[in-house]
Amino acid sequence: MHLEDVLRQEPDNLVALELAAFAAHSCGDPRGEGWQRLFVSLTALRPTEGHPDALTESGNGEESFASPGRKSANEAVDWDSFLSDVVRDAERRAPITLSDVGGLNDVKQRLELSFLGPLRNPELRKAYGAQLRGGILLWGPPGCGKTFLARAIAGELGAQFISIGLNHVLDMYLGNSEKQLHELFEFARRSAPCVLFFDELDAIGHSRMDLGRSAGRNVVVQLLTELDGFESTNEGIFVIGATNQPWDVDPALRRPGRFDRTMLVLPPDEDARTAIFETVLRDRPIDAIDFESLAKKSDGYSGADIHLVCADATERALAEAMLASTVKPVTMEHLLTALSVTRLSTTPWFDSARNHVRYANESGDYDELAKYLKKYRPPRS
Ligand code: ADP
Repeated sequence: MHLEDVLRQEPDNLVALELAAFAAHSCGDPRGEGWQRLFVSLTALRPTEGHPDALTESGNGEESFASPGRKSANEAVDWDSFLSDVVRDAERRAPITLSDVGGLNDVKQRLELSFLGPLRNPELRKAYGAQLRGGILLWGPPGCGKTFLARAIAGELGAQFISIGLNHVLDMYLGNSEKQLHELFEFARRSAPCVLFFDELDAIGHSRMDLGRSAGRNVVVQLLTELDGFESTNEGIFVIGATNQPWDVDPALRRPGRFDRTMLVLPPDEDARTAIFETVLRDRPIDAIDFESLAKKSDGYSGADIHLVCADATERALAEAMLASTVKPVTMEHLLTALSVTRLSTTPWFDSARNHVRYANESGDYDELAKYLKKYRPPRS
């Protein structure tokens, strides 16, 4: 696959951007500059996923571009391995759709009725004067599928998925953040249709309280400005935010036209857990597995916890396989042992959420969670 093909599928693929910019620079292709600018912006926004050693200080103190993994200008570059990394990365992030998301039927139905349906039926939308302004805020305990759902929405729309961790925006040199946020929205506008996903939306709420200074405030104002462009210039950009701590999200972000549709994403129910176990173990050597029984025994586990259980069980099977020098399948016993040693990651979240429901729900924002907690007592790890 060529780099351009990869970038067409995933314009925010950092490895591909980095490589394309370097290659373009080497042969004087003017597109290199655009790719380089984009790479710098995205790397700053997502430093952990970028290649920190790709940006080097040039003599005049400006950032200059170096090839990935390359220590000096004279060192040889292993193009083949970089390319295969790029392709693997693109394949790993193959599109998913709502049918890949186990359970969460209420959320899926609401998404269909309030967002995806109107989007697919412009005539009906027009007839009812329905507006598609505003973004969606997904909230709930960690590891329960907020990011996964956002990716699935992008898949349903046939749109690119661009994911931003706001913590990264706020951690950077504040002077540059506004410009980079603007660049990011510009990039999203060029990549439309796309889903622009802001993880940890609560981080910006903290920034208003904790930073309080003009630099932090400027970032918030910039984000609001960019979001408010939604109706006119943000055509084709679907903004989705996610947070584990909705009580820390800046109220300005919840106003109409911004993240005004909220959806609670709860731990998977029994059917969903069956589906997640089946999906995760689908491509692994397995013995007769009683998926229903696993689902019954994993009440309260998040999707991410179930992934951990399966990884642990697989490691146990692999250890046996290495000792026996032959393939040993993952068995029920491996999975039950893994379940017994994997702690529920959602317990602290429910402890804190219960307090917010009890003492800080005057606005009714947490009514849905209150209803859930009344009918269901999440198990403790
Ligand atoms: P969150 O964003 O809520 O913290 P994620 O979406 O990152 O959680 O979920 C972690 C992983 O758990 C996902 O990558 C996905 O593989 C799995 N997962 C979570 N919930 C579900 C679900 N309902 N159906 C299928 N997989 C899920």
